[in-house]
Amino acid sequence: MESSEHVDRTLALVSDLHTRLGGVRAVIQAYLYRSESDIEDLCRQSIPVRLCKGAYKEPSDVAFPHKADVDRNYVRLMTKLFEHGTYPAIASHDERIIQQAVQYVKERNITPDRFEFQMLYGIRRDLQRRLVADGYRLRLYVPYGDAWYPYFMRRLAERPANVVFLVRNLLKS
Ligand SMILES: Cc1cc2nc3c(=O)[nH]c(=O)nc-3n(C[C@H](O)[C@H](O)[C@H](O)COP(=O)(O)OP(=O)(O)OC[C@H]3O[C@@H](n4cnc5c(N)ncnc54)[C@H](O)[C@@H]3O)c2cc1C
Repeated sequence: MESSEHVDRTLALVSDLHTRLGGVRAVIQAYLYRSESDIEDLCRQSIPVRLCKGAYKEPSDVAFPHKADVDRNYVRLMTKLFEHGTYPAIASHDERIIQQAVQYVKERNITPDRFEFQMLYGIRRDLQRRLVADGYRLRLYVPYGDAWYPYFMRRLAERPANVVFLVRNLLKS
């Protein structure tokens, strides 16, 4: 999922493919105000959702401008997905959020085969190993194909902090 102007078209495409062929999933960004209603629609259609915080610079009329609000909304949406979603994917490197997810599934006896964690390849390998050792499913995200460079540059241009993120985490792991 890229910037907010593409969300309607992307979700329409996902819904159409799901109806005709199946086997598709959607990404929802917790920083967008609209995401709760998008998640409700996707859950109604039994389309699996990958929940991320959102990586693009968005205006405050469409997205929470403060990280604390994004984090809070992430947890709210994550809970909704655990309750009503189809095989949710918790895509985050935020230890606090991952801890809350683990606690939530333990308290409600949600077994590890009913959801998965997702992280970017090479980021927080320590946390990745810990989750797998604890019996949780983890999928690693690897952009591939000919268009990887423009994709990468688009991400960096949208949020220069991603360079710091990349370097810090490469050093950490
Ligand atoms: C599998 C997967 C798929 C994704 N797909 C999409 C997508 O389709 N569309 C989209 O918009 N985004 C996507 N993202 C990116 C996502 O929205 C976030 O930008 C990214 O994952 C960082 O958020 P976080 O949840 O790890 O939490 P954060 O709170 O941002 O990070 C947790 C910790 O990681 C480090 N960190 C993480 N991000 C940064 C940063 N930018 N700068 C500095 N330090 C950082 C910090 O140490 C921080 O304490 C995806 C992420 C994953 C893992």
